[in-house]
Amino acid sequence: MSCKTCTPATTGFCTNLAATLKTSNVHVKAAWCNDEFLIIAADGNPQFSGGSATEYLKGIPLPPGGDTACRVRTAANQLNVYKIPLSPTKLASGSNSVPNPLPNHPALPAAGAIGVAIDGVPIFPNYNNRGIYTWTSCEVDRCNSHSGKGEDYHYHGDPYGAKCLYSEADYGNSPATAHPSVIGFAFDGFTIYGRYTQAGQEGQGIALDVCGGHTHAPYGYHYHPELETATTTKLDGTSVSGTISYTAYKISPMTCWGGDISKVANFWNSRSSQVNYDSTKDGLSSRNDLTQLKPCCNMTKFYAASGITPSTVAGSGSTTGGGSTKVSGSTGPCSYGTCGSGNDEAGKKCPPDFGNGKPNCPKGCTAVPSAGCSSGGTTTGGTTSGSTGTTGTTPTKPALKDLVLKGALTLTVADADALLNDTVAQNAIRDGIAKTLTVQASQVLLKITKVRRLTAEPRRYQERNLAGTSVTADYTVTVPGTAGAALQATVKNLATNTAASVLNSKIQAEVTKAKGADYTVTVASKSAVTSSYTTAVAPAGASSAMRRSRMAAATSMLVSMMLALF
Ligand SMILES: [Zn+2]
Ligand SMILES: [Zn+2]
Repeated sequence: MSCKTCTPATTGFCTNLAATLKTSNVHVKAAWCNDEFLIIAADGNPQFSGGSATEYLKGIPLPPGGDTACRVRTAANQLNVYKIPLSPTKLASGSNSVPNPLPNHPALPAAGAIGVAIDGVPIFPNYNNRGIYTWTSCEVDRCNSHSGKGEDYHYHGDPYGAKCLYSEADYGNSPATAHPSVIGFAFDGFTIYGRYTQAGQEGQGIALDVCGGHTHAPYGYHYHPELETATTTKLDGTSVSGTISYTAYKISPMTCWGGDISKVANFWNSRSSQVNYDSTKDGLSSRNDLTQLKPCCNMTKFYAASGITPSTVAGSGSTTGGGSTKVSGSTGPCSYGTCGSGNDEAGKKCPPDFGNGKPNCPKGCTAVPSAGCSSGGTTTGGTTSGSTGTTGTTPTKPALKDLVLKGALTLTVADADALLNDTVAQNAIRDGIAKTLTVQASQVLLKITKVRRLTAEPRRYQERNLAGTSVTADYTVTVPGTAGAALQATVKNLATNTAASVLNSKIQAEVTKAKGADYTVTVASKSAVTSSYTTAVAPAGASSAMRRSRMAAATSMLVSMMLALF
């Protein structure tokens, strides 16, 4: 993502986002204020003191997901980039119109988040997507959260508790009289503070409106969660005998946003199906609000997790002062593109493209750099004699092709024939290769064949080899273009340069896990790795289980993609 020319806001938390956000978890990746918005990029996974999201999700009586077999009890990393307006407008009266509203709650969306917590986890309404309180449908964990079918962990209530987002321990001296501190931001731009826990806390006597907000100095309009003791005669929409009392741990915004969302640029995604924040499916670059997300060039106050640097340097640009010659404003050569359609000097047909691991175009062919480059591109700057050239813009990244790496290992095992029929051992070998290359096992295709030495050896030696202990493991690793050029380069580098001894120990570790310590696989040699670029086509009619496993792999890739993009 490139930067835009703007003056970053310096209000309140913008000057010290690291202190406002929960950055001790590893899930908030970056945050900054540009001139209009607070931007928070996070993988959306929580980090609680009581364990991983998966541990928490075990405690839900009826998690979402339809029939028993499909219930969701896992959380996967997402690519969430939230934008919070820095100058919100309070609705004078009435409520917002929402294109895809919740049943029974027309001012809130049926799908997606309505805000974000300081740990980067999305805040959904207090209701599930059927408009029912999540507490009466028994579908949230101890922090009032769950995952949907995208394995997207999210809050459906106040994440208060000793091992949740915040707790009494965050309120300072007892009795705490200070105003509760920030726990999140609603997408209308108003801040969410913690729930009131004791009488006498600043602003505690001022009732909350239906949206869960109130106004008092010096905070202006803002939200608080609130407890409600309620009764119901239905559980998950079905009547039960008698009346059940329960407590609703309501997060705010409650039944509406207090702010005017029509004033927020590109508030809804391009399908108007939910608020713009989840880039897991379509990627970041295809968002209709990409311009609003960009950091200001030259900004200095931002939060970035280790390994991430928001781009704050203008993509390109040039000034020409008095010359009449065109001056190129590029910041780097375009390293890939096409080679034209003719023949090269030797009379051979020009190859279709160059770069991305392929050789330069041969002499006689016309190298045409791609319309955009990862490193800023070749934008021509000023052209007018004596005038100042305008600042160039960073071209948009073209879609990257999938990287396909092929290599082979020669392995020594106790019994080659046994391995050929042992998928557990074969999968363990595949897992060892995947771990070495930091990819998902599903990205590695492994084919094991027996080594047949058809040399001029006496026949009895050939027989011994055929019954032998040596196999060839051909592997193909695909790193999709959506993973980003940086990750593709990393995997290619690992595939090319990792020593056979390292592969050996990684593979043996997986094999030991799967087959026990007595089963040994030794990497005798490693072939050179070849690479090529292609566009993979998803198989039509893939089963839902397959799609689901692909999605899990993809979301994990997206985090790497996020690292590459900022
Ligand atoms: Zn949900
Ligand atoms: Zn308050």
